[in-house]
Amino acid sequence: MLDPFGKKARELLKEFEDINSFLEIIPTYLDINLALERVKWLKNGAIPEYILNANDWKDLMGFYALLGALAFSPYGFEMELVKEANLKIYLTRIEKTKNFEELSISIEPVADNEIPQRDLTIIEKRLYSEISPEDREKITLKYKVKLKDFLSLNEGSLKDVYIRNGYAYLNRSQLIELWEKSFEKNLERAVNLLYELRDELPQYYIQLYNRLSEIAREHFKKRLEGVGRTTAQPLRFDLFPPCIKIALGGVPSGLRNYAITVLLTSFLSYARICPNPPSKNVRIKDCIKDLSIIEKEILPVIIEAGNRCSPPLFEDQPNEIKNIWYHLGFGYTSKPKLEDSGTSTWYFPPNCSKIKVNAPQLCKPDKDCKYIKNPLTYYLRKLYLESKKESQGEDRNE
Ligand code: SF4
Repeated sequence: MLDPFGKKARELLKEFEDINSFLEIIPTYLDINLALERVKWLKNGAIPEYILNANDWKDLMGFYALLGALAFSPYGFEMELVKEANLKIYLTRIEKTKNFEELSISIEPVADNEIPQRDLTIIEKRLYSEISPEDREKITLKYKVKLKDFLSLNEGSLKDVYIRNGYAYLNRSQLIELWEKSFEKNLERAVNLLYELRDELPQYYIQLYNRLSEIAREHFKKRLEGVGRTTAQPLRFDLFPPCIKIALGGVPSGLRNYAITVLLTSFLSYARICPNPPSKNVRIKDCIKDLSIIEKEILPVIIEAGNRCSPPLFEDQPNEIKNIWYHLGFGYTSKPKLEDSGTSTWYFPPNCSKIKVNAPQLCKPDKDCKYIKNPLTYYLRKLYLESKKESQGEDRNE
């Protein structure tokens, strides 16, 4: 298998009603230790032959087992580990093939005489007789991808890309580079989808996640010491999604209760206290030892946002504070105690699809919104990208 998101993989997975049903059968066939072998080899550097030559089903099961585990922590070092190991496995296979048809990118062959001679002379250096046939093969534009598909994957410069009649023309290495981008995006998309289903996944996946996490911590030891991970940490307002920034700025009367009590309360509390909840049934008392974080860091932000509404929410509806505690899981009260947590449900931030329906004025997506389905995963993703950027900066300075 060349691409676990490609055409062949999709064809095989059609046997299952949905991705959930596929994840349900994996534990019957694949031992946790075997699933971990798919990332463990990174320590020694060489991909075992039995992984490279695995048949399609074994390959898909190994890969999707790891994706299922990532549902418990969508943006963290575990995802980076799974991405790194699997990208190398699939790239090794892709490097050896001439047939890219089963990849997830829609590629068309380039016909003879399709590209004007004068352009070919420049791009493929046709007049340079000293170029070896292997090197010439590398720079030959053999593939084309619809420009809109190309642009949706490639956010970098177009300087070295030949574009003509709505297509991007690519040589072999450009195509493989584009595939890498599509693999990363598909992986993110799949993990975001599974994040929504994590409460329904068998125990196997949380066990696999815990073991994966140990390996990831070891693998990224240096970076973890430097920048920490997506566990509880002070809020980074600059990394919030647009809907949360709008709610923080205050909203008009018809939107106030939804924006402040439902969205902001759930988002800020999970983002600050438990950004990576193992399930949606978690209680605040499972995550903190006293209420000071809520009283000093979360409530003041909610109250200030309420005061920015017009008219100010808590002046108008003083009892709404009790409702905030209710949404935090303490029941309808103004004098909560930590042990009360779990009296009501600690509301999880609503998914983007719900926000779009219930409060469309709050949803003004930016370019990062296209990867996620929930404002909290937007924030987790940005934290993850930020920590990656910082660690890359540190590596350069060493
Ligand atoms: S797409 Fe989601 S995260 Fe982005 S602004 Fe809309 S609701 Fe918020």
